[in-house]
Amino acid sequence: MTSTIAKVLINVHIRLRPMLVNVTDLSHIVSILFYNALTVADDMKNKLILLTILTLVTAPLCLVSSAQAQQEKVFAIAIHGGAGTINKSNMTKKKRKAYETVLKKARDRGYVMLAAGETSQAAVIAAIQILEESPLFNAGKGAVYTFDGGHELDASIMNGKTLNAGAVSGVKTVKSPIALAEKVMEKSVHVMLSGEGAEVFAKQQGLALVDNRYFNTEARYKSLLRAKKQLIKKEQELKDFQAAHQTLGNEYKYGTVGAVALDMSGTLTAGTSTGGMTAKRFGRIGDAPIIGAGTYANNESCAVSATGHGEYFIRYHVAADICARMQYQGISLEKAADVVINDVLVAAGGSGGIIAIDAAGNITMPFNSSGMYRASKSSNGEEFVGIFRDD
Ligand code: ASP
Repeated sequence: MTSTIAKVLINVHIRLRPMLVNVTDLSHIVSILFYNALTVADDMKNKLILLTILTLVTAPLCLVSSAQAQQEKVFAIAIHGGAGTINKSNMTKKKRKAYETVLKKARDRGYVMLAAGETSQAAVIAAIQILEESPLFNAGKGAVYTFDGGHELDASIMNGKTLNAGAVSGVKTVKSPIALAEKVMEKSVHVMLSGEGAEVFAKQQGLALVDNRYFNTEARYKSLLRAKKQLIKKEQELKDFQAAHQTLGNEYKYGTVGAVALDMSGTLTAGTSTGGMTAKRFGRIGDAPIIGAGTYANNESCAVSATGHGEYFIRYHVAADICARMQYQGISLEKAADVVINDVLVAAGGSGGIIAIDAAGNITMPFNSSGMYRASKSSNGEEFVGIFRDD
């Protein structure tokens, strides 16, 4: 009888042991200790007692560990295509569909990559590149015009595991600024490169270069003409270009695309790419390429990509502030993001929004403007695409 029970228990143990190898160190250690004890136990009764204890101790550990292993498989992505004065009355069904189609395409591209076990960094880059290639969004192909009638693009990326980051500002001929930001992160000893130097580096890295006119679109050009008309009138009135620029409506200030993602290994990544502000001058750089302002990622807290009035996002280091509040105040991602976007920024007069994801895969996408193009998808089955507050 005793030997039959012993055989059963040995069998149970043999079945459990392979699970221990890849599971927690603790259960592995317990297992090794009991194995050693078994070799010194001299009679069957002692062996039986030890095997019983071993089974009772390791079985719950296995259950806990396999639950943890399941949890580690959570992955998710969120993207945005800019915030600002998105007028519901101007949004025809056709226009809405066009935006949502690209948003879904970018989101799903990233999601499929994450589901296949690819990194959050690769998913963020792929999603942003789809948005950069669309003329609908103020990044890459759809970048706004500068005051002088050209395009100057900014982008950045940050990896939450390594805290490595790369950024580029004021580039004019790089087809995919987010790809260049990634090269800066991975192939240079710097975090941010700007202007001509960044373009020389892009060429060295073999990235696609285009004529600045590649970024021309009729809609953005018309927008520049409208902005300049207003600016010239206001400048005459106020006798100051900066004061005149202040009066420009939000539709000239926003656009930008971004993505945040969590991969199966638990790594967070955030990336942002933009053409900046319509009619910007004097080499103006916004928050999008500034690590901590427009982009931030840290596996200890969250990953954030911002869109909005860049000057405020720089001054209030919005992306890093959300992550820091979460980490140091022990509050949820949703709460931290809500306070920064709807209290701090609103009180300061800065409008815009962010997308953010934490290490558990929670996603939040608050904005204090009338709308924000956004979409998300998570391995827990939730997915979303929307533009307005009530979507
Ligand atoms: N934040 C960007 C900038 O200030 C603009 C935007 O989000 O559309 O350059």
